[in-house]
Amino acid sequence: MKSEISIKPFRECRAAAALPGSKSITNRAMILAAIAGGRTVLEGALFSRDTLIMADCLRKLGYMVHLDSDAKRIEIESAGSGIPNSSAEMDVGNAGTVARFVTAFVALRKGGNYLFTCDGAMRARPLKGLIDALKSQGATFEFLGEENHFPFRMKTCGLHGGEIAIDAGESSQMLSGLLMAAVGADAPTTVKLSGGTVSKPFVKMTLSMMAQFGFECPSDGETFTVKPRKAGAGERVYAIEPDATAASYFATLPAVVGGVSELPNFGGCALQGDAAYVDVLKSLGLVKTAKVGDSLLVFGGDGAAFPETAEVDFNDISDTFLSLAAVAMLLPFKLKITGIGHTRKQETDRVAAVARELRKFCVSVEEGAGDILITPYTRAELREKLSGETPVETYDDHRIAMSFAIAGCVDIRGDGSPWIKIVNPECTSKTWGEFFEVLYTVREDSRKFRVVAIDGGAAVGKSSVSRECSRILRYMHVDTGAHYRTVAYGLLERGADSSDVAKVSEKLGCLEIGAELEGNSAKITLGGKIVPDSEIRNERINSKVAEYASMPLVREFLKNYQRSMADFARSHGFDGMIMEGRDIGSVIFPDADTRIYLDADEQTRAARRAKEGITDSIKKRDDLDKKRKTAPLVCPEGALRIDTSHMTKDEVVERTLSAILES
Ligand code: C5P
Repeated sequence: MKSEISIKPFRECRAAAALPGSKSITNRAMILAAIAGGRTVLEGALFSRDTLIMADCLRKLGYMVHLDSDAKRIEIESAGSGIPNSSAEMDVGNAGTVARFVTAFVALRKGGNYLFTCDGAMRARPLKGLIDALKSQGATFEFLGEENHFPFRMKTCGLHGGEIAIDAGESSQMLSGLLMAAVGADAPTTVKLSGGTVSKPFVKMTLSMMAQFGFECPSDGETFTVKPRKAGAGERVYAIEPDATAASYFATLPAVVGGVSELPNFGGCALQGDAAYVDVLKSLGLVKTAKVGDSLLVFGGDGAAFPETAEVDFNDISDTFLSLAAVAMLLPFKLKITGIGHTRKQETDRVAAVARELRKFCVSVEEGAGDILITPYTRAELREKLSGETPVETYDDHRIAMSFAIAGCVDIRGDGSPWIKIVNPECTSKTWGEFFEVLYTVREDSRKFRVVAIDGGAAVGKSSVSRECSRILRYMHVDTGAHYRTVAYGLLERGADSSDVAKVSEKLGCLEIGAELEGNSAKITLGGKIVPDSEIRNERINSKVAEYASMPLVREFLKNYQRSMADFARSHGFDGMIMEGRDIGSVIFPDADTRIYLDADEQTRAARRAKEGITDSIKKRDDLDKKRKTAPLVCPEGALRIDTSHMTKDEVVERTLSAILES
C-alpha cells in the first residue's frame, strides 16, 4: 500500500521556517572541495538523499568525507593531488547534479575505470551533451542500457584542456560539471556552448562558486575559459546559503493562507537564481517583503487588483514553477507559465504531472510543449466540487509533494478539514526530509507575546506605520489618540470643560469605557458603542483634546485601561500588541519589548497633514503635548528614534519590523 499524508489546513502562518541548506550549492561545494584538495569544511550544508549520494561517490573515489548532520557540517579531505581511486562503482540514484558533476569530475583521472549505476528514472535523463564533450577529450563509454544514458562503464584518461564544445541545451548541469572539472585539466580549457543552455542562473552560480574557491573562469556567457589549478593542501571553510527553492514553498504560504513567513538567513542570498521566485510573487501582487536583519519576511499582499490572466516565464527559475503552479488552483486569476519545456525531463515529466494533478481541482489545465495554462475555480466552486480528501500523486518527485502540500494548507472549507492528501510523501527526503515537520511548526505560534510602544507627535506617520506593522505581524493595534479623543468627546457632550477640574472629575466618573475589536484594531467604546470617527476627528475635538490630555486625572483615568489592553490582546489570540501614542514607551509600558519614537521635521508633517486635507494646528497641539507636566511627549530613554522626514512609509515599516523582531 502506498503511504499518504493528510495536510491539515490552517489560517495564518506566523513563524520562522527552518530552511535547509541549498542542494545545488552543497553538491557544487563538495565537488569544488574535492577539486581544490586539502581540507574543506562546509557549514550549513544540506543533508538529503542527493547530497548523501554525492558524499558516497566522493568516498568511493577515495576522499575522506565526514558528515555531521546535527551541526549541518560536511568535511572533505584528501591527501594527495587528484582523484585517489582509479576504479570505483558508484550509484548516482536519481540525483541530477551528482550524475552530471561526478561523470565530468572522474574524467580528470588518468587511467580511471568507473562503473556508474542509477535509479530507474535516471536512465531516461539527458546526458548526451556531456558524454560527447568528454569523448572529445578521450574518455570512452560502454553503455549498459540505452546509448548515451546511465548506467555505463567509463574509462578515463584525464582532461588535456584546449577547446571543448558542449551542447547543454537539455541540462545546464552538464555545462556546470564540465566547467568545474576543467579546473583540474592539464592546460587551460575553453568550453564553448554549441547549443543553448537552460537555467542560466545555475551556470552563474557555478561560476560564482568557482571564483569563491579561487578558480578563474572568465566568460561571455557562450565561451568559458577555465584556468587550470592543481589540487593543493590548503584548508578552507565555506558557508552554504539556505535553499532558495525550498524557501519558495514558505514564501508561497502567506500568499495563500495569509500571515507572515520568516525565512532565516535568506536576506542575503546571492548565488541562487531561484531567490528571484519571491520577486515573481511580488510582481503578481501576491506578497510583500521586508528584510529584517539576515532574514526575509514574506507576508500577504494588500489585495491590490489582480489581472484576469497572468503570464510568467519560469525558464530561469524552473525549479520553482511547481511552487506557483500547484497553488494556481487557489489564485484569483488564470495563470500561464512558460519556459518549462525542459522540466518534462526532470524527476518526472513535471508539466504533464502537475497538469494531471491540477485537473482534479481546476476548471481547465491546458498543456503546451513548454507551457501550461491553469484556469481555477473560485474558492466557493472548489469547495462545492470537492468532497473528502483528494489524493495527489507525486511521481517520486519531491517538488510535486511539497508544492501541493502548500496548497493543502489553505482552509477552503473554513472548518480546518483536510482536502488534499499527498501520496508517497517520503519522496521529499530527496532534498528536505523534514519538510512536513517544518510545515507543521509554522502553524504554531512559537513566538513570545510582544508589546510594542510607538510614540511620536502628530503627523509623523505613527498611525499608518503601526497599522501596517500590526497587519503584517498579526498583532493587535491600539491607537491611544482615539482614547483621548473619545474621552474629550464624552466630556464635551456632558458639558465638562477642561478649565473646570471638578466637573471633569465628576463626569469622568460617568464615562463607561470598554473595548471592541474591529479587525485587528482594539477600539475604545463609550457606553458600549464606538464613537464614529466623524465625531472625534474634527476641528472641535482637535482644538480641545490636548487640553484634556494634559489633565492628570484624565491620564490616570486611561492608564489602567490602556495597560489592560495587553491582556485583551492575549485573550483574543494575538501574538503581540502595537500601541501608539505619546507616552506609551515612557509611562504606560516603559518595559515594552520594543519602544520606538517616530519623528519628522515640521515642514514634512505640515505637508503630510495638508495632503490628508486636515486643517489642524499641529504645532499648537504638539507644544501642549510636549510642555504638559504629566506624561509629556518625549522620546523615551533607550527608545529607537526614527526620523521619518526623508523616508517612505515602506522604509519606516521595514525599519520598525526589524526593531520589533530583533527584540
Ligand atoms: O494621535 P492623535 O493625534 O489622535 O492624538 C490626539 C491627542 O491625544 C494628542 O494630541 C495628545 O494630546 C493626546 N494623546 C496623549 N497621549 C497619548 C495619545 C494621545 O496625550 N498616548
